[in-house]
Amino acid sequence: MPYKAKILLIYTGGTIGMMKDFETGALKAFNFSKLLQRIPELKQLDCDIDTVSFDDPIDSSNINPEKWDKIATIIEEKYTDYDGFVVLHGSDTMSYSASALSFMLENLAKPVIFTGSQLPIGDLRTDAKENLITAIQVASLQSKGKPVIQEVGLYFEYKLYRGNRTTKINAEHFNAFTSPNYPPLAESGVHLKVDTNLGLSQNNSKKLIVHKNLDTNVFVLKLFPGINQSVMSAIMNIPQLKGIVIETYGAGNAPTEDWFLEALQQGIDRGLHIVNVTQCSGGSVNMGQYETSTSLKKIGIISGSDITTEAAITKLMYLLAENVSPNAFKTIFETSLRGELT
Ligand code: ASP
Repeated sequence: MPYKAKILLIYTGGTIGMMKDFETGALKAFNFSKLLQRIPELKQLDCDIDTVSFDDPIDSSNINPEKWDKIATIIEEKYTDYDGFVVLHGSDTMSYSASALSFMLENLAKPVIFTGSQLPIGDLRTDAKENLITAIQVASLQSKGKPVIQEVGLYFEYKLYRGNRTTKINAEHFNAFTSPNYPPLAESGVHLKVDTNLGLSQNNSKKLIVHKNLDTNVFVLKLFPGINQSVMSAIMNIPQLKGIVIETYGAGNAPTEDWFLEALQQGIDRGLHIVNVTQCSGGSVNMGQYETSTSLKKIGIISGSDITTEAAITKLMYLLAENVSPNAFKTIFETSLRGELT
């Protein structure tokens, strides 16, 4: 008898399981058992599926680090009982959650696949069935007794991506996600094709370590022409703030005016960790390539390389919670921990 993988489906909410409220007409999350009744096809899959649901399923706009802890705790407690995990999640913040979980789950040697949909499962034209069924198949893939995918992935519209490389790019197309700086780990067509050269692989003997309680004293600042001194100074002086991700222009460029650089310097002097990521949807920060980024490099701004904003902010929350020493922080941030940067 071929091996039957055991999959745990974790339902957090999202459009996939929503129904229209009769009174307001707005979409809201509903009870998980009804969701499964709507997908009888799941019974045909060649794996054993158990399910667990948030008591109050959420629209993913309400996701936060405490709820990431909840997902991580479920995976931690059930880690040895299952071959893979599929997390049903709203698409709006799915890239943040997939990124966060990638950092929280150290030594992960099993698949944790995030998926959801743009239309509810009950809708005639829904994308939910394909996304859910293929995500489960991806999580079930085994080779020589080991899971083929050994990391946090995001499956949507025929593609499996590394979760911490993704970003949501469209609020209405079924093709809602992209991974601008890393190719898909797998593509689903007539065949399910996995590029095994692209995935992370773990030494199975290393124990899963789960990091919780991320530090939320962080901020994302998107630069724009016209940003002024009082705004910059107010941000640099936010009480308790420990880290900022700055979305700069192009290859990591920013204004060269004295007041701007002095504000950043003040932030660094008070101990802020400031990460430079590009606000372009693809490509990498390269401080020093232009004159408009040389000073950033000189004052010790951290290079985010080609990391997404979603991965940068969650990596910042993770490393701050780990109490990494100030001297090592820049080096560790600039190192790829879970394949999140090149
Ligand atoms: N607003 C929904 C959510 O993120 C959208 C979706 O599920 O795609 O929960």
